[in-house]
Amino acid sequence: MSASPARRQAPAARAPRVLTGTVCITRQVHFNSAHRLYNPTRSLAWNQKQYGLCTNPHWHGHNYVLEVTVQGTPDPVTGYLIDLGELKRILHRAVVDRCDHRNLNEEVPFLRGIIPSTENLVIAFWNEIAPHIKTGRLHCVRLYETPRNFAEYHGPDAT
Ligand SMILES: [Zn+2]
Repeated sequence: MSASPARRQAPAARAPRVLTGTVCITRQVHFNSAHRLYNPTRSLAWNQKQYGLCTNPHWHGHNYVLEVTVQGTPDPVTGYLIDLGELKRILHRAVVDRCDHRNLNEEVPFLRGIIPSTENLVIAFWNEIAPHIKTGRLHCVRLYETPRNFAEYHGPDAT
């Protein structure tokens, strides 16, 4: 016995319940880069005292881990604040593709002339990433230089 047309019809779609709240969502990406901490306005002795091995004129490298957090409210239709695939693409275009397997002092135009400390890098990365975040707002750029050392930046308006 076949079901009547009324039975075959899908039940009326019920809209999902919408929860309200401000959330943070984070994407992590990795890259490897060489750099040197060196202030050219100071003597070599000053740089060696200040930076130790990190001022080695023959460079050294890090396995950087970059975590970028976007804050906002989930879209009622998708449940997403931001599509993490899209955030990954933004981070690759803005940072990873330009820094991975590069010398941060010499090869990355948006870092030219700065001392590539973790502190300076999070500010520079924020400036490159922020214009591409169209849903929610950029909340935090966190960069691990080593598993124990990291810096965070919450943007120019944060106190
Ligand atoms: Zn270093």
